[in-house]
Amino acid sequence: MVYWGGMTNFDSIDIKLLYAPRTVSDERRVVIDQRENSKFVSTLNRMRLRHIAQVHTHPGKVVDHSQADNELAAFRVPGLLSIVVPSYCQGGMQPITMCGVHRYDKWGFIRLSEKYVQSYFEIFESGDFLLEDHRNGS
Ligand SMILES: [Zn+2]
Repeated sequence: MVYWGGMTNFDSIDIKLLYAPRTVSDERRVVIDQRENSKFVSTLNRMRLRHIAQVHTHPGKVVDHSQADNELAAFRVPGLLSIVVPSYCQGGMQPITMCGVHRYDKWGFIRLSEKYVQSYFEIFESGDFLLEDHRNGS
């Protein structure tokens, strides 16, 4: 699981923070405790960024949210994106249309159509971001 923090511009979002929280993981699930999420929110505030997306992987090609993805999401903020990358991200996440892109709204996480994603999403890599990696407990 990686959280993206960034700032919105007129018609784009600059991702300025990739935050990998410490997790407790096994084959079927990833758990992030409240303290880790609190540290992430503190980092967002310190950098004056918004939580733009959460990104996680699935083992196969299915990139829909699982029931657990919907019910156990720590952050449920309108507009928050949740991107599911297939095959444990072994092939990367481009083109973005091979990922499941979901957006949280008053009905919960709704998967955006591939046509919508193709029309409105494009990822440009600039390298201008901070990586905070807490996966090993630091
Ligand atoms: Zn999932």
